Amino acid sequence: MRVLMIAAPGAGKGTQAERIAEHFHVPHLATGDMLREHVARGTELGREVKGHLDRGELVPDEVVLAMVRQALVSARSGNGYVLDGVPRTMPQARACYQMAAELGMAAEIVLHLRIEEALLVGRLLARAADQGRSDDTEEVIRHRIEVYDEVTRPILAWYRERNILVSVDGDQPVSDVARDIRAALTALGLAELPAPHRPRAALDLTGLDTAFGAAPHP
Ligand code: ADP
Repeated sequence: MRVLMIAAPGAGKGTQAERIAEHFHVPHLATGDMLREHVARGTELGREVKGHLDRGELVPDEVVLAMVRQALVSARSGNGYVLDGVPRTMPQARACYQMAAELGMAAEIVLHLRIEEALLVGRLLARAADQGRSDDTEEVIRHRIEVYDEVTRPILAWYRERNILVSVDGDQPVSDVARDIRAALTALGLAELPAPHRPRAALDLTGLDTAFGAAPHP
């Protein structure tokens, strides 16, 4: 299973990514977690990106892409990956595709969780209470949502045109979102755990938008 997860902050992509990764025995590669870990460990990279994270700004593409490349290389011998939090910009989308394709690991599906923007701030403020992330203050949350809207959301159209986008309703209980994701993966013939020596047949993803009711907004 090779999947990219794209969704607004607070849409629940980390939770769902974790579940998919567990089910398929693939690593959950979350760029936000990797960056926060660098900050926590006080590495040089951590010191470089801390301000961006605290302000809710994106870190430079080349920083994220170097991290993702390393993570993909380490995942090469396994059954795939769930990439969570990348791509977030158009150059990241192109570079991720190129990098993964060169490694023979191009994503099979891009999962998008749709959710009304009005719900996001409340969800993130609730999470802030128990996780204490430095970017979960109301002002920074609003800015992260703006950045998503302006920079990240437009790349969904790129995947939609390439027929690899599946959009699932994220405004439901966690288990219902997971059920819808499973249903989408099953419909695409991606739900089977991989048989180690059998190459997977090529997929015809034409018409995905109709099947899953791609929405014009997240
Ligand atoms: P959320 O989706 O709630 O914003 P993440 O953990 O995915 O949470 O990301 C937290 C922060 O990490 C972002 O606001 C940004 O500063 C940085 N970040 C994560 N992924 C990327 C990326 N692909 N490109 C640039 N910055 C990123």
